[in-house]
Amino acid sequence: MPLLKLEDTYLHKGKRRALVAELRQKGIKDEKVLHAINTLPRHFFFDSALVSHAYEDKAFPIGEGQTISQPYTVAFQSELLDVKPGNKILEIGTGSGYQATILHLLGGEVYTIEYQQKLFEGTKKFLARMGIHDLHLFYGDGSQGLPKYGPYDRILVTAGAPVVPESLIKQLKTGGILVIPVGDRTTQKMLKITKKANCSYSTEEFDNFAFVPLLGKEGWR
Ligand code: SAM
Repeated sequence: MPLLKLEDTYLHKGKRRALVAELRQKGIKDEKVLHAINTLPRHFFFDSALVSHAYEDKAFPIGEGQTISQPYTVAFQSELLDVKPGNKILEIGTGSGYQATILHLLGGEVYTIEYQQKLFEGTKKFLARMGIHDLHLFYGDGSQGLPKYGPYDRILVTAGAPVVPESLIKQLKTGGILVIPVGDRTTQKMLKITKKANCSYSTEEFDNFAFVPLLGKEGWR
């Protein structure tokens, strides 16, 4: 990776501030989330061919047919997740590692799992080179969660699911929050599910989004 790409210049910082202003205008209110987005250089997570687009509010390809989510989506999901310092968080769909790093900056202890092996290996190497060693990275089918390290205070799914996977509900602590886009292969409704005592849960529905599909045993086959 060329050194130039890892420089965070005043130009990058200015573009990042403008992006944060755009997100605020689009309705993101959580100052901690906006601060994390303002802090983390999104261009570090980009392929060099696309790096000039890093501060556009758009999703971009990261290889293996996958994408780094649109900043608005990252901000919206992070806001719904309402991370408290020390929360144990499971993210399904590591992708570039950007969202996982945002969750870490919000104070979470982050476990993240990726289904595409090449992407997992590449992101693992990249995060190590960036000096980000605090994320717990796993390769595998996250549609079934990561039971070994659960239960979790928060679970975030960054791919579109056909239904809410039972395993994810099971791995959520009482009082815990699951944020997951659910729908068909092209459009999904964002859901925020809060687990109550005696294993019941409440569901709030938000806007439509367009995610790549959640594959696997409890996702799209
Ligand atoms: N959070 C990522 C980021 O910050 O770059 C973007 C996620 S991308 C929109 C969705 C990711 O979910 C892809 O990397 C895809 O390979 C992954 N994915 C799809 N199904 C999965 C599964 N069953 N388990 C884990 N990851 C999965």
